[in-house]
Amino acid sequence: MPLRCVFCGTRTVTPERYICAGCDADLPRIESPPPSMASPFEYDIAPLEYTFPVDAAIKALKFKRRLFYGPAFAELLCAAVARLAPDIDAVLPVPLHWRRRWFRGINQAVEIGRPVAKYLGVPLLSCARRRRATPFQSGLNAKERARNLKAAFVVRGSLPYRHVVIVDDVITTGATMREVARVVKQAGAGKVSALAVARAM
Ligand SMILES: [Zn+2]
Repeated sequence: MPLRCVFCGTRTVTPERYICAGCDADLPRIESPPPSMASPFEYDIAPLEYTFPVDAAIKALKFKRRLFYGPAFAELLCAAVARLAPDIDAVLPVPLHWRRRWFRGINQAVEIGRPVAKYLGVPLLSCARRRRATPFQSGLNAKERARNLKAAFVVRGSLPYRHVVIVDDVITTGATMREVARVVKQAGAGKVSALAVARAM
């Protein structure tokens, strides 16, 4: 095992780490706000700001299939998740519509969620589906995004889990996460948390 730091290319000191200590210290970290009473989430975690070099890394994972960013991001997320929510018993990546998944070749949320599930020792759920190809969200305001997402997700079967964590790459308005949380709770999950690499400020 490796490794060169995914951000700067220097050899990482700890063999299993994907991010060197220097880059780790320089990452644009943000405090996740404590979920409000109105929030459907037990925890709403996105440790980084969606700015350089995080935005570039996420785009490289999504559009250039730089798959090593998946476990690198998971490395950042696992520590936070294990500390906050030891009762998590399933990981559910936000699904892409099959057509977009097909064009892109990967679902970035799965690439990030898979190593998180492995680290936590819990199942990676693939029972959620995006029912229609929602048009791109960028350029829409919060209200339009929410309307755009209505009934966009379905879950096959039931989810008899205590605490499901939904994984995505970026949280912008949170509309996607809330809509997935709604169907996950409807399917029987007890608590739901949101986990993303970055938050657009
Ligand atoms: Zn580095």
